[in-house]
This record gives sequence, C-alpha cells and structure tokens, in this order.
Amino acid sequence: YSLDHFVIPDHYEEDVSSILIPHGVIMDRIKKLARMIVDDSPGPLVVCCVLKGGHQYFADLVDEIKKLRRINGTSVQLSLEFIRVKSYMNDTSSGGVKISLTDAELQEFKGKNLLIVEDIIDTGATMVKLLDRLALVEPKSVRVTSLLIKKTPRSNGYIPDYVGFAIPDAFVVGYALDYNEYFRDLDHICVISVSCI
Ligand code: 5GP
Ligand code: MG
Ligand code: MG
Repeated sequence: YSLDHFVIPDHYEEDVSSILIPHGVIMDRIKKLARMIVDDSPGPLVVCCVLKGGHQYFADLVDEIKKLRRINGTSVQLSLEFIRVKSYMNDTSSGGVKISLTDAELQEFKGKNLLIVEDIIDTGATMVKLLDRLALVEPKSVRVTSLLIKKTPRSNGYIPDYVGFAIPDAFVVGYALDYNEYFRDLDHICVISVSCI
C-alpha cells in the first residue's frame, strides 16, 4: 500500500518503508476471527495475552467477542490473563521459555479452556515451548491464535489454530509489535526502512 494513502505519525514517517497491513484490514480480519473462535468455543475461556506484542490484538479480539454478544446473543464467558514470555536464545537441545507466572499461578490453568493470544509466529520455537510448559498443568483444552505467521524456511512447522495473516519473511512492526520498543504505537503493520536497522 502506498504510504500516501494512510496516516503515519510524523515521528515514524522516515522509518517506515511500506504498509503491509492497514489498521482497517486488521480490524476486519479480527471480526472474522472472533466469530470463528466463538463458534468453536467449548465453554468459558481463559484468554491469555502474550505480552507485550500481543496486547493490541488481545484487546481488539476481546472487544469483538463482546460485540458478538450484542449482535447475536452468543455468550462465552471470558477471563483475562497476561503472560510475559522470553525464549532462551542460546539453548539448542532442551529449549525452554521463561514465563512471568509462578508455578502456583500456572496451576490456575488446570482444567480450563485456554486461548493463547500471540502477535506473530516466526520460527514457532517460542510457542512450542510455551505449549509444552502449559501442558504440564493439564488445562482442559488449549487453542492458539496468532495475528501473524511468517512464511519462512526457519519455521519448525508449528501452525496456530487461528491465524490472521500469513506474511512474507520480513521484519514487521506496528499494532504493538516493536523494534527496540519503538513502533508499538503505530496503528498499521509496517515494514521498516533498512536505514532504521
Ligand atoms: P519465534 O519463537 O516464533 O521465532 O518468535 C516469536 C517472537 O519473536 C514473537 O512473539 C515476536 O516477539 C518476535 N518476532 C518474530 N518476528 C518478528 C517480527 O517480524 N517483528 C517483531 N516486532 N517481532 C518479531
Ligand atoms: Mg510475541
Ligand atoms: Mg519484541
């Protein structure tokens, strides 16, 4: 999409090379995803936001699920949880993720229907490790939605249950995705200029 057709804040104008997914398109897709998730819902859901990048998708997805109640009376009870997840970078063999919840807090997920909300799947390593950790506390069910999945040869083959968009193998920012903590406050999903990296 041409940059001229959309509003980019002045403080990012120089740094954005193209708009990959405009905000309006993201919002439309989320309406559809909310419907699919509600239709498949096995009962009350514990919606787990993977921070920080997942927060905008999480907020808009929860909003859309609530709107569906007003439109067609679907009622799925939601409880909201927030997890910060960090992958161990130099860990080849065993692999692991550092999760911000204590073991006691994780135990709360036992027997619950979880919906994990993530911003992007790249290699898939982080999500596979997170799911391994969560399986230990025996939730009733676990489903994953990621707004984005990258088409990359580095993928481990993991595909979430609900995907917003499959994107080319480029580094993207905006809609809560960051580069060194910048660009989270940009509405559109964008590719940044080479000069910026
Ligand atoms: P994975 O473990 O699937 O390789 O990577 C997962 C995490 O890496 C994502 O949750 C995200 O935090 C980060 N990441 C991967 N690709 C991108 C990208 O294109 N842009 C941004 N901002 N973060 C990314
Ligand atoms: Mg993430
Ligand atoms: Mg990041």
